Formats: sequence, structure tokens, C-alpha cells
Amino acid sequence: MPACIFCKIIKGESPASLVFEDDNCLAFMDIQPVNPGHVLVIPRRHAVSLADMNAEECARLFSAAHALAAAVRASGLRCEGVNLLLADGEAAGQEVFHVHVHVFPRFAGDGFGFTYGPEYAILPERRELDEQARKIRSALTPAVGP
Ligand code: AMP
Ligand code: ZN
Repeated sequence: MPACIFCKIIKGESPASLVFEDDNCLAFMDIQPVNPGHVLVIPRRHAVSLADMNAEECARLFSAAHALAAAVRASGLRCEGVNLLLADGEAAGQEVFHVHVHVFPRFAGDGFGFTYGPEYAILPERRELDEQARKIRSALTPAVGP
């Protein structure tokens, strides 16, 4: 496996502007921020994908992201809203293959946005939504299922 840049940051072998660390997670500034105050939250244990993390590890990661979102809002940096974003897989836009949650401030007119495909304008029928719900429900693992 080629050297993971986020593992290098964890080991102190690559520079980072650290915001937070505990036994499970690290948070530091993104080198190419969407807006000033853009933080990345990562697990200490190298995991490429969410599927490589257990529920406990994910809970700790998202708990840290929750705290970072509040801190970004309270920081004095321009912040009218906050986005949390996690790209899981190349097709989802993942470029660094060590799980990370983006936490970044938003404000009116900042220029960030999602683009949608042409189908987005067409609302699916209820039976399609029900069928998709059934498929996802049947794939839920016991850890998150009823
Ligand atoms: P993603 O597309 O979700 O995989 O995002 C990867 C993010 O990591 C991008 O926003 C990059 O700017 C950021 N990034 C890459 N290398 C570093 C680094 N050495 N320090 C901080 N952020 C980084
Ligand atoms: Zn790594």
C-alpha cells in the first residue's frame, strides 16, 4: 500500500495544523479548504472505508465531528452554517483513502454547492421509494437494525 498521508500526519511525519486529538481521533485543518475553518476528522486506526470500521469506532469519529462542528460555529470564523461530508469510495469523490469527515463552515454566496444529474428534477413514485426502502432495510446489519 502506498504511504497514507493521513497516517503520516498521525505519526508526526507530515505537517498538520492540529485542532484536536484523543485516543481514537485526530482533527486538523484541510490544506485546500472549501472555506476558512475547514477541518478534517480522522480515526487514528487506518481504515480505507466506513465498511472497515466498527460501530464503536464510527460513533467516536462522528462524536468528534459533532464537537468540531460546534467549535467551528463558535470560533469567530465566518460561519452561517456547517456541512459535514464524508466521501466513501472513489465514485463518491474520495481522494484520500483513509476515512475522514469534512467539517466546514458555510455562508451565503460562498460558491460551494452540489451538482445534480438531469434525473434529479423528476421525483420518483412512492412505490419506487418503498422498493428502495425494502432493499436497504433487508441489508441492514443487526448493529443498526431494529
Ligand atoms: P476527499 O476528496 O474527501 O478524499 O478529501 C480529501 C481532502 O484531504 C481534500 O480536501 C484535501 O485538500 C485534503 N488533504 C489532502 N492532503 C492533505 C494534507 N496533507 N493535510 C491536510 N489536508 C489534506
Ligand atoms: Zn492512513
